[in-house]
This record gives sequence, C-alpha cells and structure tokens, in this order.
Amino acid sequence: MRKYVIMGVQGSGKGTHSAMLAEDLDLVHIGVGDILRWNVQNHTKLGAQIRRTMAAGSLVSDDVIEGVVSERLSQHDWNYGFIIDGFPRSERQAEFFLESYDLDGVIHLYLPDSEVRRRVLARRLCASCGMDYNLIDNSPHADGKCDACGGELIQREDDTEEALAVRLRTYHEETNPILELFERKEYVITVDARPEMELVQAEIVAKLGLSTVLPPSSSSGVTRVEGTGRA
Ligand SMILES: [Zn+2]
Repeated sequence: MRKYVIMGVQGSGKGTHSAMLAEDLDLVHIGVGDILRWNVQNHTKLGAQIRRTMAAGSLVSDDVIEGVVSERLSQHDWNYGFIIDGFPRSERQAEFFLESYDLDGVIHLYLPDSEVRRRVLARRLCASCGMDYNLIDNSPHADGKCDACGGELIQREDDTEEALAVRLRTYHEETNPILELFERKEYVITVDARPEMELVQAEIVAKLGLSTVLPPSSSSGVTRVEGTGRA
C-alpha cells in the first residue's frame, strides 16, 4: 500500500499529476477541494456550512477540513493506497497525519512565483460556455473568441496581478511550515513542475523509486525498459 501527499501552488499541475499517479498505481485520489465543491453543489449539510463560511468572507476552518479528510479515509476503499491533495493545511494536521497514516512520501511540485504569474495571468474563460483556455499553449484560433461557441474570452475575476500576489503570499505562509516539517522527517521529493507534463510525471515516478513497479502504460508517454527474453 502506498500513501502520498502532493503539494504545489495553483497552476503546478497537482490535479493532473495526482490523477496520473493514481491511475498508474491504482490509488484513490482524494482532492479535498473537489470534496468541498461536491458538497456545495449537492446541497449537503456540510455544503451549507461551507457556503455560509464563504459568504462571510472566511476560509473553511482546519477542523472542517480535518473532518472531511477523516471521513473520506474512513471509507477504506483505498486497498492500494491513496494520494491526497489539499491536506494537511497546518503543522498540527501534518503531525497528526504522519502519526496516523504512515506516509510513504510527500510530492512537492515546485513552480517559481514568476511562472505561476505567467501561467495564471494567461488563463482565459469563455463567458458563454465556460471552456478554459490559456494564451501560452492553448490559444483560441481567433483572438478573444471561443473556438467552440464564438463567445467572448474573459479573465476570471480573481486572476488579477493583485489578487494573485495575495494568494501566493497566503500559499507560502501556509505551506512553508508544513513543507519544512515534512522535510525534517525526510519525506519530501521536490520536482520541478516547469517541464512538459510527461517529463514531470517521469521524474516523480523516478524520485519515488517507483520506476520498476509501474505496469506498462501507453497513455503516459514515458519510455520504460522492456522485459527481456521476448521477441
Ligand atoms: Zn464558448
């Protein structure tokens, strides 16, 4: 069984890489943000609580997050392990998590702030159909127009230079102590998130020491050593 935490700033490809690793290793991918969104969309009791918190301009509390994670992990559908994204959020939670779940590793996707800024400020969204674009490697065919519906492409309200600076500051304030704690216990592998997706994934796999246990996968595009003795 393998148990991982993945950490990285927005735009670092956390979701993509967790999903790829989960598929390769048959892990359950636990995205705390996804669980919160699901609860809001499905109008659960927890969803109502989250909505009230957000309406009051506050962040969802550590206790709520902790409850969500404990409940998800108590379902025990993770026979081969899990990869969790969006948790822990504090040193206390990190300590607790280390004691309770015997982690195998913490994957830290490193992306410099300048690159986060470049990626996030290039994001566009179709005002009509909601399709996502980015002006770096996924530009629309016609400037400012959605390929699918011709709608106008806009920036998200909170994708401004100022809002992003605040998010980055908060991210580092929250994350650095947790990363340091994990680093002291020698759990962290740091992977540069700037190269192409397949290269980043290959480096994660190599640094986790998994290269020999992965089944062949045609979708990942990663070259693996072939078995011997077969024509
Ligand atoms: Zn559109």
